[in-house]
Amino acid sequence: MELSSLQELYIEELKDLYSAENQIIKALPEMIKAASSKQLQAGFGRHLEETKTHVKRLEEIFDKLDTSPKGKKCKAMEGLLEEGEELMEEDASPEVLDAGLIAAAQKVEHYEIASYGTVRTYAELLGDQEAAQLLQETLDEEDETDKKLTELASNINLEAVHGDGGRRSGDGRGGSRRRSA
Ligand code: FE
Ligand code: FE
Repeated sequence: MELSSLQELYIEELKDLYSAENQIIKALPEMIKAASSKQLQAGFGRHLEETKTHVKRLEEIFDKLDTSPKGKKCKAMEGLLEEGEELMEEDASPEVLDAGLIAAAQKVEHYEIASYGTVRTYAELLGDQEAAQLLQETLDEEDETDKKLTELASNINLEAVHGDGGRRSGDGRGGSRRRSA
């Protein structure tokens, strides 16, 4: 494929995200089923609904570009989600599996944060303020999700350390604390 302009690269990156988001929509229900913590289940559930909005925003942007969002598979997301599936097949205790699900979900969020930051900047450079605004909204939601996962990890990691819900000693914050890409 020939990529001779930033506009073309922008569209390729948007297609990659469209594929990534659709893969996430398929994966989250399984992660909800696999999670034991009610809070984690609820967090995944909320983000599933947000992710559907992310797809809609991308469709809106493609509509204005008069281009189809289809035709590209995000191999990075495929790999990240495959690792999550492998984890769910392990014979893990509930607390440890929850900790692992948070780790997997944060890798997904960080990929999205990096990608949305990039396309938001491209949209600005290309003079499309409307698209930049939509992409920024999604970026903010991904960032917020990442932070909530870190908060959940502070309890769940401790439960995984003690194996039985002991949450009083120490600081279990092993979830990624990185705030944005
Ligand atoms: Fe998303
Ligand atoms: Fe996300």
